[in-house]
Amino acid sequence: RSKEQGRNQVTMYHESMKKDNDKMLFVEQVLRNAVNHDHFILKYQPIVDGDRQVVAFESLIRIFSEQETLFPDEFIPVAEDTDLIQSVGRWVISHACLKIMDCQYNISVNVSSKQFHQQGFIMYIDQMMKRFNIGKNNLVIELTEGVVVGSFNEIQYKFNRLKEMGVMIAIDDFGTGYSSLEYLRQLPIDYLKIDKSFVFDLDKDNSSRVIIETIISMAKHLNLQTVAEGVETEQQFSILKDIGCDYFQGYLFGKPGDLLTLS
Ligand code: C2E
Ligand code: MG
Ligand code: MG
Ligand code: MG
Repeated sequence: RSKEQGRNQVTMYHESMKKDNDKMLFVEQVLRNAVNHDHFILKYQPIVDGDRQVVAFESLIRIFSEQETLFPDEFIPVAEDTDLIQSVGRWVISHACLKIMDCQYNISVNVSSKQFHQQGFIMYIDQMMKRFNIGKNNLVIELTEGVVVGSFNEIQYKFNRLKEMGVMIAIDDFGTGYSSLEYLRQLPIDYLKIDKSFVFDLDKDNSSRVIIETIISMAKHLNLQTVAEGVETEQQFSILKDIGCDYFQGYLFGKPGDLLTLS
C-alpha cells in the first residue's frame, strides 16, 4: 500500500512538472507573438511625495492582445530565459523615452539584470535619450539587487556612465535580495525602493516596521532617497511618513493606468 502511494506521488510530481512545462511553452509562444506583432503596452503608476503630489511614474509592461493579457511576473522570467529580453527591454526603453518627451514627467523603467549586463545596453539608452531629447534626471532606471553580482568594475563602470548621461538609478524591491552594503556605498545610487512585502505588514507586524526604519535610517546616512512600494492604506502612509520615507507608490494613490499626454 505504501508502495502504491509512493508511486502515485511520483506520478503527480511528473504531471505537475509537465503542466509547468506546458505553461512555459504557452507563455513563450504568446511572448514571441507579442514581440512580432507589437502586443506590448506600458501602464504608468504614480509616485507621490508626502503631500500626495505626483513626482514621477513607474512604467509597468503588459502583453495585451485580443486573446489574452499577461502580466510581467509571468513573462519576464521567460523572456530572460530565451533571449527575448533584449527585444522586450528595448521596446520598454524606447516607449518610456517617447512618453517622457510627450508628457515631460519623470518616468522609471524596470531593467532586468540580464538586460543590464548585455553588451550595448548603455549605448542603447544613450541613443534613445538623444533621439527623444531626454533631460537630466527625467529617466530613472530600476534595477534589483540581483544586478550587483559579477564583476564589480563592470557594474561600477555602467552605473557611472548612466550618471554621466543624466539617468537616475533606483534599487528595486530593496530588502529582499543580498546586496552588500559596501556596494551601496560605492555605487552612484539615487533611490532605494522598499519592497512591498514590508509595507504590507507595516500596521500588523512590528518586525516589518523595524526593517523599514533600518532601511530608511541607513539610506539617510548614505544620502539616498527612499520610495515605499505597495502603499494601500492611509495607516501605512502615515506610519511611513512618520518614519521619514521620502516618496510613496501604491494603490492608495493610483493603480497602473494610462498616462495621457499633455501636448
Ligand atoms: P516592481 O518593479 O516591483 O513593480 C511593482 C509591482 O507592484 C507592479 O506589479 C505593481 O502593479 C504592483 N503594485 C503597485 N502598487 C501596489 C499595491 O498597492 N498593492 C499591490 N498588491 N501591488 C502593487 P506588476 O506591474 O505586475 O509588475 C511586477 C514586476 O514585473 C515588477 O515589480 C517588475 O519587477 C517587473 N516588471 C514590470 N514591468 C517591467 C518591464 O518593463 N521590464 C522588466 N524587466 N520588468 C518589469
Ligand atoms: Mg520597479
Ligand atoms: Mg518593486
Ligand atoms: Mg518586483
